[in-house]
Amino acid sequence: MEVENIFTDIVERAKSLDPANIRRWFEKLNAVHFNGGLLEIGCPDEATAQFLEHNCKQSFTQAAQQITGHLVTVDFRVQRQEKVENRPPRLGFPIKLHPDYTFDNFVVGPSNRLAHASCVAISHSLGRTYNPLFLYGNSGLGKTHLLQAVCTEAGEKSNRPVIQFLSCEGFINKFISAIERGSLAGFQSQFRSVDALVIDDVQFLSEREQSQEEFFHTFNALYNNGKQIILSADSPPSEIPSLEQRLISRFNWGLVAGIDPPGYETRVAIVQKKAHIRGIDISDEIAEYIAHKIYANIREIEGALTSIYAVATTMARPITLELAQTALQGKIGAPIKHISISDIIDVVTNHFEVRLADLQSKRRSQSITGPRQICMYLARNLTKHSLEEIGGHLGGRDHTTVMHACAKIAQAQKADPEMCALLAKLIKEVNQDR
Ligand code: ADP
Ligand code: MG
Repeated sequence: MEVENIFTDIVERAKSLDPANIRRWFEKLNAVHFNGGLLEIGCPDEATAQFLEHNCKQSFTQAAQQITGHLVTVDFRVQRQEKVENRPPRLGFPIKLHPDYTFDNFVVGPSNRLAHASCVAISHSLGRTYNPLFLYGNSGLGKTHLLQAVCTEAGEKSNRPVIQFLSCEGFINKFISAIERGSLAGFQSQFRSVDALVIDDVQFLSEREQSQEEFFHTFNALYNNGKQIILSADSPPSEIPSLEQRLISRFNWGLVAGIDPPGYETRVAIVQKKAHIRGIDISDEIAEYIAHKIYANIREIEGALTSIYAVATTMARPITLELAQTALQGKIGAPIKHISISDIIDVVTNHFEVRLADLQSKRRSQSITGPRQICMYLARNLTKHSLEEIGGHLGGRDHTTVMHACAKIAQAQKADPEMCALLAKLIKEVNQDR
């Protein structure tokens, strides 16, 4: 089998299997090698390879197996050496920076202008401008995105600074395990020898007296050596409960920048940016519709785009405003929640007036197999469950049965307008029913 010929199909299938993790740059991937059940996929750089390895391995493996009909193992590998000036930052620990979290992908508006500008300034000269920088804001407003953008940008500079990025919990855990292993000195020298220490969500230092003490000394050592410190939290230093006064005062020494929820226009631009990153084409009208609905937490925009893409692929329809409305039905201002198999089973059993026990039974009459196959198809397209898991929920059926059901319903949907309308109705109900 010529793998080049089927690779586009594999990528398309992987996208429909896991709409939350699609990216425009999937177009740049290629099949390097397909032999003996091993499919090697070539990626342009280390960051994309890591992203794929951590987020997309399962969907690509399943897609390759479905398209080829064989057991396939998928491997992602960097195809050409990156240019020297484009190497990933030297991180103190092998911590993965999210390839999407760059300055290019960050939309600047009045709500985050100061935070963004200070991060850009710092990334150009660590330790020289604002030190420490303390970013605060509610969840989902882009703190982690900005911190990682600084790491990526600063790390690409020719002087190759050593940057330590980690969550506050990571810091605490490493501290505790260093104490347990009796290797506190190693821990201290690791943290005190970096050019920049970036710690996300420092509100978790709250009520951790020993960790606060250790962090205080780390802070002093770095600060006195002119090394950069960047911190984020969900509130300004003085409002973090049970934080020692001496830390509060140090956190206020440099620049404290708040991030507010973005206004409407910024949200529209963020929706467009996120859709672009994923390679999903949406009109301005749809971007505006999503921005109207989601205002408090930007993370929900990603969920909304995933729902819209999933519904569009499931129904094999282009993304129109009407489709977006169907996908986001009942979600005005409410967080986008996960669709579970039970949500789907509830809707399908209600519609066909059958019982779950029937769907799970061995019965093979048309009145039962039809709804059972529809359940499988919807679960496959609207949830992240594997074929095996879906089969498990529906009476312990094996993955080939589920694959067969999905193919059959997909076929019927294309050929039969009634089936198409029925699926649209059920999807709408699944979305409402939560
Ligand atoms: P926080 O750390 O503040 O909870 P994150 O940095 O994790 O928030 O951001 C949540 C999501 O919202 C991420 O996908 C991030 O890329 C996105 N996001 C937030 N603000 C912006 C922005 N101004 N431009 C683009 N994406 C944004
Ligand atoms: Mg965060």
